[in-house]
Order: sequence, then C-alpha cells, then structure tokens
Amino acid sequence: MSNTLQAIRGMNDILPDQTPVWQFVEDTLREVLSSYGYREIRMPVVEKTELFKRSIGEVTDIVEKEMYTFEDRNGDSLTLRPEGTASCVRACIQHGLVNNQVQRLWYTGPMFRHERPQKGRYRQFYQVGVEVFGLEGPDIDAELIIMTARFWKRLGLGDVTLQLNSLGTVEARTRFKAALVEYLKANFEQLDDDSQRRLETNPLRILDSKNPDIQALLGEAPQLSDYIDDDSKAHFEAFLSLLDAAGVAYEINPRLVRGLDYYGRTVFEWVTDQLGAQGTVCAGGRYDALVEYLGGRATPAVGFAMGLERLIALLENQQAVFPAAEPHLYIVAMGDSAQREGFLIAERLRDSLPWLRVQTHCGGGSFKSQFKKADRSGAQYALVIGEDEVVRGEAGIKPLRERSEQQSVLFDDLPVHVAQLFGHGTD
Ligand code: ATP
Ligand code: MG
Repeated sequence: MSNTLQAIRGMNDILPDQTPVWQFVEDTLREVLSSYGYREIRMPVVEKTELFKRSIGEVTDIVEKEMYTFEDRNGDSLTLRPEGTASCVRACIQHGLVNNQVQRLWYTGPMFRHERPQKGRYRQFYQVGVEVFGLEGPDIDAELIIMTARFWKRLGLGDVTLQLNSLGTVEARTRFKAALVEYLKANFEQLDDDSQRRLETNPLRILDSKNPDIQALLGEAPQLSDYIDDDSKAHFEAFLSLLDAAGVAYEINPRLVRGLDYYGRTVFEWVTDQLGAQGTVCAGGRYDALVEYLGGRATPAVGFAMGLERLIALLENQQAVFPAAEPHLYIVAMGDSAQREGFLIAERLRDSLPWLRVQTHCGGGSFKSQFKKADRSGAQYALVIGEDEVVRGEAGIKPLRERSEQQSVLFDDLPVHVAQLFGHGTD
C-alpha cells in the first residue's frame, strides 16, 4: 500500500455517502437565491496572478502566503482562485455587465488556499458567493442579510449569530488607520511579532488579533466609530433599521474589519461557536471601490461568501435531516427473459414517474444474493420478476423495511400502484 497515490493534503474527496448532504445544501441555496432573483455566473478556476494581487491586496494573508501560483507553459504567472469576488468583478467588467446596470449574481465552486489544514480549514474548499453591482443604498445590504437568514431557516441551521460593523468610507478609514498607527507606534514594545509586522503592512488587521494583551492595548486605542463620516453613519443606521423591521437579530462588533483591503461601509459575519476556531460560516460586505480599481466604471458593490464545508459540519453537528437518496425500488430478476422484462419495466416506470429512483440488479446470481443486494441498497421495496411472472405478466412487490406479504401487480398497473405506494400522483 505504501506506494499507492493519495490526494493532496488539505484537498478532500467527497464520497458518495457524503454527497446527499452536499446536494441538499447546494439545492436549497440555489432555490433560495433564485427566489430572490439572483442569477448564476460561472468563472474559470484559474486567473492571472495579477488579478488577485491587485484586488485582494499585496499585503493580505491570502496574497502573501496562501496562493497556489505557478507559471504555465507560456511563462505567464497564473493562480488557482483563492476566492471568487475578484474573478466575478473581472468577468463583469470584461463582458460589460456593470455599465449602469444592476446585477444580482451568485457562483459556486472550489477555492484554493495554501493554509495549514485542520477541521474547517482546507486547501481546496467550496464556497457559494453572492455579489450585487450597481446599488449603493442600505436596502440591498439588508436584502443580502435577510436572504442569508432565510438560508439558515431553510437549511434548518441554528446557533449562528450575525455580527455587523461599518468601516466608513475609504477616506474615513485612512484617517482612522493613521491615528491607530500613531497610537500603536507609541506602544511598539507591547506589540507581539505578528502585530509589529502588521503595523507596517496591514495595521487594521491588528484589530483582529486573538492575543489578549493586544486586545487590552486596543481598548485604549482610537476607535473606528469615532472616525466614521456622517453619510456612512446614516447608511449604517438605515441598514440596521431595515434589519430590525425584518426581525433579524444582530450584534455590533466594532473590531470586525475583515481581512481584505477593498471593503468599506457595511461588513458582516455569521459566526458559530460550534466549530472551534473556524467559526465563520459566511462573511462579506460592501466594496464600492473595487470595480473602478480593476478598470471598470465606478460601480457600487456588495457581497458575501459562505464556506460549504463549515455549513455542512454545522448541519452534521446539529443532526439536521435532509432528503434521502436511496432507491425507492430495487428490481430483482431471475433468468434471461425476466432480466429483459426488468429493464423494460424500469424504463416505463421512469417514463411515467420522473421522481422515482429505481435500481435494476445487474450481475446475475441467485434470488437470495439479489435480495441481499436489494436490502443493502436501502430501497423500500423489491420488485421481483421470475420466469413465471413473465408468463403471467405480473411482478411481485416485496416490502424490504417491514414484515408484510409480497403482492402481485400486473405489469400494466405498475406505474399507478408504485405511485400509490409512495403517496405520489402519476403525473
Ligand atoms: P478565516 O478568518 O476563517 O480564515 P477568511 O476571512 O479568510 O476566513 P473569506 O475569505 O472571507 O474567509 O471566505 C469566506 C468564507 O469561506 C469563510 O467565512 C469560511 O466559511 C470559508 N473559508 C475561508 N477559508 C477557508 C478554508 N481554508 N477552508 C474552508 N473554508 C474556508
Ligand atoms: Mg483566512
């Protein structure tokens, strides 16, 4: 076994026993998104490295140490996308989707970051991301939050709380940053190595520090809320009052800054304490400056991304129920003519009952061994055909999950009978 190949560390296979919960989450999110009028966009998983350097920022953790960057055969520097916003903005500019238009968009797919793998933190992970372009008011920020609250309701997820903050305009943040840097420089000796380094590169990230000494030092530091401009304050107040009206609960977290350079005004995170240190399941905010910064016309924008592994871990923690994927029926057929008949019956059932999951036994074997497989498939019923049944034009229907008798049903009556068994109509 020692020389069998293994997947790359931090990149997971999602096995067939796990895919039903993934499909449940993806289908539910897709349904809710479309019920709010959001449309899907699909971007490549590889982009020019420069796109991420410019949009995410050279001094962020992602660009400094997490990107999968390589040279392709032409010598161009390419990167596996670490997130979707940059590609989405690039695609919208490239195809003229952000010229005086409103776009409500979503995407899903794998993202890649070279982080230390641990529960809830992988090197390939899946996100569903949402981006809205062309709306600057607080109403759309509220719509996004209200939609995420509906996600949790539809998924049956409890124990997630919403944290909010406003970062103000870029100018307000720049003034705050200068005051913060001045204060921290005056207390340079008390900073840990990480914070000393960030003071030069990305001082706002120091607010995120998990070190209690740093947090204590920050207690006396200039506060972002004192620097927020009046327009941003009004924007934030209007946003909060829409959430109040919609009955969405939140906490204001003045230390919430988000890692990326391009955020301004609204920022938010949905967090849980059930997943240890990897507790953020959904994060986002407003990024009005990015479209223009990447070469498009000035266009307000707001969005968020959810980590699907974390959502699924939370669902599994809470033992949520999701739709089954086992077959309804397993067709057991003995002999050549019965097998031919079995295939035809299965096709006819699929024609008239599109919701039905039918598995046909393949590979021959005795009735006994076929029944064993039928049982293991998780099916509710076995549909049994032998040479006698073919002659009579009837099949046996045998319950596999309860003790009751096998019934005989004419081939022609099967669609109606099977539909009744599962409480469905025939159309
Ligand atoms: P964190 O602080 O946990 O590193 P982040 O700020 O880097 O998160 P974002 O870039 O905002 O995360 O990505 C949005 C969401 O994607 C996160 O809230 C999380 O649910 C998920 N996510 C981010 N990185 C990973 C990862 N390496 N593995 C699994 N999920 C991730
Ligand atoms: Mg991160």
